[in-house]
Amino acid sequence: STVILLYTRDLRVHDHPALHEAVRRGDRVVPLFVLDPEILSRSARNRIHYLRDALADLRAALRTRGGDLVLRTGDTVTETLRTAERTGAGAVFLTRDVSAAAQRRHRRLVDEGGRARVDVREFPGVCVVPPLDLTPAGGDHYKVFTPFWRAWERREWRAAVPTPRRVPGPGDIPVGRLPGASLLGQGRGELSPDVQHGGETAARKRMKAWLAGPIGDYEERHDALAAAATSRLGADLRFGCVSPLELARAARDHPKGAAFVRQLAWRDFHHQVTAAFPEIARRDYRPRSTRWRTDRDGFDAWREGRTGVPIIDAGMRQLRHEGFMHNRARMLTAAFLTRELRVHWVHGGDHFHALLADGDIANNYGNWQWIAGTGNDTRPNRSFNLLRQARRFDPDGAYVRRYVPELAALSGAEIHAPWRLDRPPGGYPPPITAAEGPSGG
Ligand code: FAD
Repeated sequence: STVILLYTRDLRVHDHPALHEAVRRGDRVVPLFVLDPEILSRSARNRIHYLRDALADLRAALRTRGGDLVLRTGDTVTETLRTAERTGAGAVFLTRDVSAAAQRRHRRLVDEGGRARVDVREFPGVCVVPPLDLTPAGGDHYKVFTPFWRAWERREWRAAVPTPRRVPGPGDIPVGRLPGASLLGQGRGELSPDVQHGGETAARKRMKAWLAGPIGDYEERHDALAAAATSRLGADLRFGCVSPLELARAARDHPKGAAFVRQLAWRDFHHQVTAAFPEIARRDYRPRSTRWRTDRDGFDAWREGRTGVPIIDAGMRQLRHEGFMHNRARMLTAAFLTRELRVHWVHGGDHFHALLADGDIANNYGNWQWIAGTGNDTRPNRSFNLLRQARRFDPDGAYVRRYVPELAALSGAEIHAPWRLDRPPGGYPPPITAAEGPSGG
């Protein structure tokens, strides 16, 4: 029989339950990726850049195994069912995802596929523990991280599935060309000059290098802004070029891997929240009567990294330059926007989403709401003293110096509060919040 394997954000051949089952069942397997203009128009150019790498790499991996990747352009559901019709496929297999768009797509696939007698089946693979597999007593999903994490750790994780050595070919259909650079034109946000390259081969290399050493220092160093002491696997996980389960298993086996495994649990946590509350990107998860302000100038200064608060500007400029920002800087810049400027989290989240190569609905908006106090934080009134945070996590100012060259000549003691100097460096603006700099309470 013929099986369509609809690839979405699971662009790999390793530990891929849907691919594994398609190969086991089908004498013909049609791995399909649909370049959907509607999805692309909502994607960051930095992610489309990654996607192009990932598709090329995936096609190569399938070809070495005797198969191929079939590419189509158009509406995902329509193209999938059209391909099923042309190949006589009776089944579509895909990896289950959580966003509102993914849930809509799945409902349509089931409905329209049902009418065409095409069986649609979902498989795990986007998370370590499938979203909503764990539920608390008396609720449909976990609203607080710690109890979720405890249950998550106790749960027996599935075993990784073997990588197929052979993948049957898609048969006599045109496979379609890999998208050229013009695809970038369909997305939003700028393409960052230093954005990371992607694809399963690069991702696995990064994963192995991470597990071979640096993971051991993660607990002590992950908050150090200037150190490259985090995994940088966010985009690889976002596109499924690395299996979160394979990564979590390997990290759990590492004697000092616990702190890193916990971050993967955070990722699963936000995904199960999004599965249950797919409006996460637009609506307060926990409504609060916050009085938001419109501050066009403040928002522009924030976006462009010229707020006059060095740690904030460094983070925002890293984002534009690399399509990435250190987690601690994400927290501080998000707190600055929502708590100092009191601009609604949705605007900050949308800006991040237009630039982050690892931009992911669940993680991005889940974290924005967490910071804004409308999410799952058990201390929604938590406040950050930005100056203290800057001095603690960038003690000698190396992070600021890297991204804010106007301040490069200042010492570590001066760099985080240039407004205190008798003669602040020329070309760097005064802070847009209170002159003594943001306190954060
Ligand atoms: P590491 O520290 O090496 O962590 C490993 C992996 O664990 C990450 O790649 C990620 O998949 C997961 N992870 C780590 N921290 C978190 C977290 N707090 N929530 C969920 N998953 C986590 N992460 C995204 O993947 N996509 C986003 O769009 C995103 N937006 C964010 C927005 C804000 C305002 C904040 C505060 C955080 C956001 N994060 C997001 C979480 C975190 O900042 C990034 O996952 C991390 O910085 C990516 O770098 P890394 O891979 O080197 O992380």
